[in-house]
Amino acid sequence: MSTAPAPLRDAADWRADFPALRQSVHGRPLVYLDSAASAQQPGAVIDAVASYQREDHANVHRGVHTLSHRATEAYEGARDKLRDFVNASSRSEIVLTKGTTEAINLVAQSYCRPRLQPGDNIVITHLEHHANIVPWQLVCEQTGTELKIAPINDRGEVEVDGLYGLIDEKTVLVGIAHVSNALGTVNPVEDIVAYCRDREAAVLIDGAQGVPHLPVDVQTIDCDFYTFSGHKMFGPTGTGVLYGREALLDAMPPWQGGGDMILEVTFDKTTYNELPYKFEAGTPNISGAVGFAAAVDYLQRIGMRQIADYEHELHDYMVSRLRGVDGIRFIGEATRKASVQSFLLDDIHSHDLGTILDHQGVAVRTGHHCAMPVMQRFGVSGTCRASLALYNNRDDVDRLVAALEKAREIFG
Ligand code: PMP
Repeated sequence: MSTAPAPLRDAADWRADFPALRQSVHGRPLVYLDSAASAQQPGAVIDAVASYQREDHANVHRGVHTLSHRATEAYEGARDKLRDFVNASSRSEIVLTKGTTEAINLVAQSYCRPRLQPGDNIVITHLEHHANIVPWQLVCEQTGTELKIAPINDRGEVEVDGLYGLIDEKTVLVGIAHVSNALGTVNPVEDIVAYCRDREAAVLIDGAQGVPHLPVDVQTIDCDFYTFSGHKMFGPTGTGVLYGREALLDAMPPWQGGGDMILEVTFDKTTYNELPYKFEAGTPNISGAVGFAAAVDYLQRIGMRQIADYEHELHDYMVSRLRGVDGIRFIGEATRKASVQSFLLDDIHSHDLGTILDHQGVAVRTGHHCAMPVMQRFGVSGTCRASLALYNNRDDVDRLVAALEKAREIFG
């Protein structure tokens, strides 16, 4: 967080940084409202990856030649930027993964699996993405332990008292989203962490939808693990981070074995590398890390506070405009929200609605959003979800609303 934020620019300038947004879809200028699934990339990220591929590509860490040094510098430089971005206290705490999903699986298998004893439990909430459900189901099955689910209310907020009621001396870990991808709910993660700290339960925050939209400081949140993905914050796919408290990572066994995660291998005994390399077996996604670093530079140049404020204002505008559409039903009306609004229109199936919007150049996500339990909680099979990023503006929202009005006409 050391880079000073750039002076306020007009949102139109940010939009101009993203080449993909200059195209038309079905003859209409593209309105991209699916950043919660995957955000578009600015030219700076695309160029950084292309330049690395053209001039610097080689394998990292063990090479003595110039290109290998350059690749290593770029890869390890990305780790330093990511450490700074979330204010981890040491670069050893930043494990580069292929995304949030891999990071959560790593914690389930390496932190929880060796610790879980019959009678123990893991606690998550009803609003989690499948990536923050299934890895815990797997490890609970493997160890004969229990997965407990904290309830959410009709607005799509975690019932914090209900969550606290599930946490006991047998709770090994609490896993919770920073921001829900299906509902947009911002969870009170600092309060939850403080509560868990007193009860000695570790906390993992799934930050896939947090980091792109809010300033995140893992030391202030005080969590044990924080996970996020590059492609939701203008970086390449196949990149992500597991932040872990150093003492915990240090005590955890490796998750995958192979090159780079070892110091010495014999058939009698293998010794493992130091942190964070112990958790990075095999050739990593080097070009992805280069793009990820460029995405962090981009975000830091604008400043996460400015991004959060801009998006918050635009989100309010989107919600108030959508509220004016006849026949709309909101799914997710939490008091604290970021980026996302899920909805249904009349009794139109969400996929049909999404297809009609696409024909008008408006890209939204439809379906269960990898959060089937959320859909079950609200008694629907899926929703339409519009999600914002800093390159969106009020015109995009107006185009969405016009496209919805058109869908109503079509469906009569
Ligand atoms: N958690 C949340 C809240 C998400 O939105 C996503 C992506 N939709 C994930 C986890 C999984 O991220 P990835 O697919 O990048 O591993």
